[in-house]
Amino acid sequence: MNFLPLIESKREGEILAPAQIREFIREFTAGKIPDYQMAAMLMAIFFRGLDTRETTALTLAMRDSGDVLAFPKDKRPLVDKHSTGGIGDKVSLPLAPLLACLGFRVPMISGRGLGITGGTLDKLDSIPGFKTLLPAAQIIKQVQKVGCVICGQTDTMVPADKKIYALRDASGTVPSIQLITASILSKKLAESLDALILDVKFGCAAFMQTKADARKLAQAMVSLGNQCGTDTRAILTDMNTPLGRAAGNWLEVKESVECLEGRGPADLLELVVDSAAHLLVQTRKAKSLDAARKVAEACMNSGEPRRKWDEMIVAQGADLKAFNRKLAQDSTAKVVVEVKAGKEGWVSKCDARIIGEVIRDIGGGRLTKESVIDYDVGVDQIAKPGERVEKSGALCRVHVADAAQAKAAVKRLQTAFEISGKKVKAGALVSEIVLE
Ligand code: URA
Repeated sequence: MNFLPLIESKREGEILAPAQIREFIREFTAGKIPDYQMAAMLMAIFFRGLDTRETTALTLAMRDSGDVLAFPKDKRPLVDKHSTGGIGDKVSLPLAPLLACLGFRVPMISGRGLGITGGTLDKLDSIPGFKTLLPAAQIIKQVQKVGCVICGQTDTMVPADKKIYALRDASGTVPSIQLITASILSKKLAESLDALILDVKFGCAAFMQTKADARKLAQAMVSLGNQCGTDTRAILTDMNTPLGRAAGNWLEVKESVECLEGRGPADLLELVVDSAAHLLVQTRKAKSLDAARKVAEACMNSGEPRRKWDEMIVAQGADLKAFNRKLAQDSTAKVVVEVKAGKEGWVSKCDARIIGEVIRDIGGGRLTKESVIDYDVGVDQIAKPGERVEKSGALCRVHVADAAQAKAAVKRLQTAFEISGKKVKAGALVSEIVLE
């Protein structure tokens, strides 16, 4: 294929035909287009954009670049949730078993951490014995039997996205609404879903810093998902403050189990229940969001999702005894230090970006692709906006590998918080629902 004229067309702002897009994705996946030419095309798309028809063609061509999961016919709808990523965002962990208990099948194909945002697979890797890399046949078998799976993309699923994403990362072309839409939806559509709920985050620790940009991305994804036959809606949620009280891989698994046991933080539970409620409405299992929330809450309180969690992790190789021993420990890191408030008042700010950067730098995230993650480090017992703190009280605890790291981390974490002398009201977590 002569790719150069297509790059030139897009550089000039012309519209590409769906057949042209399908062809270059097929050729690139097969290794017949060099990376430098594809990087040039991505930059042209970044500046010139894609219209709806082009974005649809790109998304479907990427989905069809590899295996699409084929599930047996079953009355349980296939559903999933995708979050654009944040700090402390562990919703997928309690949500998958909850959805399975609500009568759904959940083929949750998740990703690793990106930038400062945590990744579901990295969190799950902190569970002794747990396997995140499963062949397609096993994913299907587990979904049919257990009701849910949380695993990584196989080598043969959406290979075009894997190659394109690596190029975008290295060519400054990640933050394009159309490229993000195609990347996320190509992977979700390869799960053959009936319904999808998207959690699009906005704020200082999100990809989209403003609510207006988050809305634009949500609208693009919702419209395309629906056009491609998957009932899709989005919620816009705040990511200026971490979700829950813990951030860091193992600490988040621990907090997810607490959520499943009815001991979790209110904001995490709210988002888990809300995501499930939307999917109940989308699949017509509930008539209204309020009724659906009640159903999801009752299911959570029944203890069934907690048992389903154990069933899911055992199906994926976890050593349940070792897992429970780890859960019983207050901390698995060598050093735990409190960050003191130093004055009394109400927390008026708890900056998720600073907390995310500290966790990445103490080893909880990746600075380069080759970085080795320390699953035990992180921050917990985080005081949230609106909460009262005393002078001798703590704003959070930091879990680190040694005392020198602790000292530096505490100093930086102190800058993440602001304390006001006046009572402060926390803002809403879910601020908007995007239906089209
Ligand atoms: N997550 C993805 O999978 N792709 C993007 O482009 C951005 C976030």
